[in-house]
Amino acid sequence: MHELSLVLSLLEIVEEQASRAPFEKADSLLLSFGRLSCIDPQALQFAFSVQARGTRAEGAVLRFDIRPVTIYCLHCEKELSPPFFTGACPACGGVEVVLTGGTEEMKLIEMEVDGC
Ligand SMILES: [Zn+2]
Repeated sequence: MHELSLVLSLLEIVEEQASRAPFEKADSLLLSFGRLSCIDPQALQFAFSVQARGTRAEGAVLRFDIRPVTIYCLHCEKELSPPFFTGACPACGGVEVVLTGGTEEMKLIEMEVDGC
């Protein structure tokens, strides 16, 4: 349940932005993270709705940009995007693959605000 700490740091970022460019309310937040980062969007949404009460971000809509899993296969010499990471190449079945995407940490990409 690390979603709670993610939400707390997210709310800190929102406050920090507000101190630099004042606004009354955040309308929506676009968050990005890798599919393999073990973040549950529903748990995140729930933690957010509880923790954001009384802050500028209360009632803001969370949107998610979930980055796909990408691997580079040393045998095929190309990058592929399998739905899951199994440790093997979905094209040739080889195991000489490098995980190149899908483990990105959560980031705030965009914030729409009201009352600038
Ligand atoms: Zn391959």
